Amino acid sequence: MLIFKQIKDLQRYLQSADNKPQVKGFVPTMGALHEGHLSLIAQSRKKCDITVCSIFVNPTQFNDKSDYDKYPNTIARDIEMLIDAGCNVLFLPGVKEMYPDGLENKKPLNFGYVAETLEGEHRPGHFAGMAQVVEKLLRIVKPDKLYMGQKDYQQQLIVRHLIKKRRLNTELIMGATLREKDGLAMSSRNVRLDVPARKLAVELSKALLKAQKAIKEPGTKNPEPRRIAEIQEKTTQHLRSIAGVELEYFEIRNAETLKPATTRKEKKVALVAAKIGGVRLIDNMVV
Ligand code: AMP
Repeated sequence: MLIFKQIKDLQRYLQSADNKPQVKGFVPTMGALHEGHLSLIAQSRKKCDITVCSIFVNPTQFNDKSDYDKYPNTIARDIEMLIDAGCNVLFLPGVKEMYPDGLENKKPLNFGYVAETLEGEHRPGHFAGMAQVVEKLLRIVKPDKLYMGQKDYQQQLIVRHLIKKRRLNTELIMGATLREKDGLAMSSRNVRLDVPARKLAVELSKALLKAQKAIKEPGTKNPEPRRIAEIQEKTTQHLRSIAGVELEYFEIRNAETLKPATTRKEKKVALVAAKIGGVRLIDNMVV
């Protein structure tokens, strides 16, 4: 695996590789890698001739400075994992390399409601910073295929809008969320959970599964909008009642627009965010 810290070196290499017609896959990450990240690398390897991974903890997408400061760094292990996973290229830039002219977002895109709700509401500025860095990375790497996880459902929706609005020539592929044996969605932040918090964390995926089952259950008498609202309310109350779970939201939304889901037919997604043991966790399931 080749490692590049500078854009010009990476681009020189990719351009030389571009001389042969090659399909380029790209997996952007913030490091502290786990099986979820590796599953995206594996999907890229299956379909692409060359797989590029980036590790960059992007300061502009952290609305909480202490979350940024505490973000886990396991770079030596990450490199080993990427080599074992058969990744071809790692892009490992520093903050100065990505933001030579400072962190200011000069041309932020307006994504509207899809970026204002849920995470947008609870983490102001997060998506603007995320879109800023993803656009930069896409312009540097110019991948044919971009692999992102369903774990960050709202993020991948916004990146779809970003690709369209900026007319970036890449196909976004959403990979399924990889989970621990008990159902907890894998996340770099999970290493910060202490033993009791780790035990409690499973409540999020349990609640999502229960809601998914309730929505799919046929033959309920309630009209659909009321039934969805009831399931949402019941799940919210349940999560709120668990000591140690600081619920931020549990919502059942339209899977494309993220507007409240109100009909039987539309594709829906249930999304949850909560702080457990001081660690902010998110998860979702299509329902
Ligand atoms: P991150 O390093 O957390 O920014 O994540 C990098 C990419 O990996 C994003 O596209 C995430 O959605 C994806 N990802 C994170 N956790 C998982 C998981 N448990 N399963 C699959 N993909 C994931």
